[in-house]
This record gives sequence, C-alpha cells and structure tokens, in this order.
Amino acid sequence: MMLKKALLSTLLATLGAAALPATAADTELNLYSARHYQTDEALYADFTKQTGIKINRIEAKEDELLERIRNEGANSPADVFVTVDASRLAKADELGIFAPVKSRLLEERIPAHLRTQDWFSYSTRARLIVFNPELVKAEQVQTYEQLADPSLKGKVCTRSGSHPYNLSLGAALIRHNGTAQAEEWARGLVANFARAPKGGDTDQIKAVAAGECGVAIANSYYLARLMNSDKREDQAVTARIKVVWPNQQSWGTHINISGAGMLKTAPHKEAAVKFLEYLASDQAQAYFANGNNEWPVVASAKVDNPALTKLGPFKADAMPIGELAKTVADAQRIFDRAGFR
Ligand code: FE
Repeated sequence: MMLKKALLSTLLATLGAAALPATAADTELNLYSARHYQTDEALYADFTKQTGIKINRIEAKEDELLERIRNEGANSPADVFVTVDASRLAKADELGIFAPVKSRLLEERIPAHLRTQDWFSYSTRARLIVFNPELVKAEQVQTYEQLADPSLKGKVCTRSGSHPYNLSLGAALIRHNGTAQAEEWARGLVANFARAPKGGDTDQIKAVAAGECGVAIANSYYLARLMNSDKREDQAVTARIKVVWPNQQSWGTHINISGAGMLKTAPHKEAAVKFLEYLASDQAQAYFANGNNEWPVVASAKVDNPALTKLGPFKADAMPIGELAKTVADAQRIFDRAGFR
C-alpha cells in the first residue's frame, strides 16, 4: 500500500503539472453538514445550477462529523464543514482542520465580528429569556445576570450546562463580567433551578408555558418555530409566555451562529471557496437563515419570517464571534464546579 502510494506520487511528480489540465475546474464538492432543512435542498440545487458543481452531502450530528474529519485525516474527502455554534467551529479550528480563506467578497459581505480567518458565519441566532408573567415579573428577568438572583429561587429552567449553547453563553459572561463573577452567576443559577436540567430549548419554553418554570433560556429559532406553527398547541404555548431580549442596557443579547469553513485537506478547494462565497449571496442568505428561522448575516439579504418580524430588532452582543471560543473551556470548568450539568 505504502509502496503503491510512493510509486504513484513519484509518477505524478515525474509527469509534472504540465501533464495535467491547466484549468482543471472542480466539478463536485463534498459537503459535511450538520444542517438538514428542506430549504437547504433548494440552496444546493441553486448552487449546482449556477456553477455546474455537484454537491455530495454527508449529513450527521456536529460532533460526529468533526470526529469523522479527524479520523479521515489527510485522506478526508471533505471540502467544506457546515455546523452550528461558534464553540464547535472554534474547536474545529483549534484542531487545525481549516485552511484560511482570503476572499474579498466574503470580507465585504460578512460583518467583521462574524468571521475569522478560517471560518465564516452565515446566520445568527439569539439566546433569549422567556418567562411566564403569572409567575415572575418582567423587571426580574431583563438580564442573564438576573437569572442568578435569589428572588428567582425555584423558578429557572434550562437545558444541560454541558450543551454548547449554554457553554457559549457562559463564555460570553466570562468575557464581559470576568471569571469570578461568571462562576458566582453559575452557582446562583443552579440554586434557582425549578428542576434539574433536561430536554432541549423547546422543552424549556413549553415548561414555562405550563407553569413548571417561571423563566427559561432558549435559542430564538425554537421560539420562532413555535410562533410560526399552525398547531393549536404551539399557539397555546406562545400565548402564555413573554419574551425578553436580554441585556439591552448593557452588553447586548448573546448571539451564536451557523457557519462554515474550508478544510485544509479539501480535494476541491476552488469549488469550496465558490460555495463559501455563494452562501453569502442574497438568495442563499435568505434560504440559509430562513430555513431555521435565523437572521442572515449579510445586511442586504431579506428577512421574510413573520416570527422574526414580530420579535423585532434588538441590540446584539458585538463581541467578535471568534473570541467566544477562548473562554469556552473556562465556562465548562466553572459550570462543573457550580454543579451546572
Ligand atoms: Fe439547536
């Protein structure tokens, strides 16, 4: 096997670049994606129509895809990795799997705080506070920090502290308030739990509506999905809760992203860059963001989503998204010590 490989590379070296077509344009692209929405189908079909590049998709959970890329190593067929959560992209980046992409188009269209040298955000989501007005007062729950206040004892619900969404929020709290204060916050939060963390964000929203919890933290798209739902039971949920954009008077609501990067080992680098640039087009942005009730990152892209329109504008945390990752490990340690599991 090794010998064969060695022979092959010698052969290729001997033949040299001249023997290969000078402009061997990529005709396919291997996409490892942790996203699977119906609107994404339209997105990929449109890309193929525009460029003639066929997309082969491998879809799996975020962490599985990352593990797969690591295991495949230099032989990975992956060209582009698409996933959610800045801490996951940052983890991938730390593992050294991405190649830097220099693109004027991406620099022009994606705001600076939503990209790094190695990966780009294509949509944003906010971590919201939802509350039950029969159980807590609006003025009690205007900030993340307030969720640790003893006045909310037995009222707070959230998913697991080890979930990336909460770890990213913890990382933001560390950046803004310092490690000691963030740890105190985690302890106060745990002391306020109505129940041990369980389920996803939608479960927390439903538990608030049911009165099992007074207040919860949830990503905006889960709420928007309920708001846009025709189902009577979903409408009943949203009718019983109120929504807060946290930290509007201070550092802004914590946001997270869906994003993508080109693999260092990508066999089709030209196609990969084309795809990353395509995702920043107005049309792709609309599909990509709307497919999961998220906000596009490109200012000129249209938001056509009744729930997001209803939720209205808000002040988002302006901290560069790449910065978050630097304190995610600290957030994990703090949560562990505080018993936020
Ligand atoms: Fe999610």
